[in-house]
Amino acid sequence: MTDMELIDAAKAASANSYSPYSKFKVGAALLCGDGELFTGCNVENASYGATCCAERAALFSAVSSGKRQFKRIAVAGSGDGTFAIITQPCGMCLQALSEFCDGSFEVLLTDKSGIRKMQLCDFLPFPFEKASMEK
Ligand SMILES: [Zn+2]
Repeated sequence: MTDMELIDAAKAASANSYSPYSKFKVGAALLCGDGELFTGCNVENASYGATCCAERAALFSAVSSGKRQFKRIAVAGSGDGTFAIITQPCGMCLQALSEFCDGSFEVLLTDKSGIRKMQLCDFLPFPFEKASMEK
């Protein structure tokens, strides 16, 4: 799957966004180690804290299907359907991804100029992890 195909899958997933409060639709497309693709969208709630981001929706769907290895994720968000501005994962989603992915995990973002390829460690260089609780 090409970078652009993964970005396009994230954009398509944003169409299912339930975002009556922010009016900002986000989609994520997560490519698993075995090549299977899982997508997610943001699902908001009147109790804002109950909202789930697109990235975690995709990740939890994949994990719920037994996936544990992931190659990369694409994220695309837009309030007006243009995807003109980068939408990066929030801290909670980065932490959730770090449970299964090392720092070299690729995070693909997009804006009007094209695709920006980042790594998980660019956003979260020092994640809280299992080893953080040892000793
Ligand atoms: Zn998030």
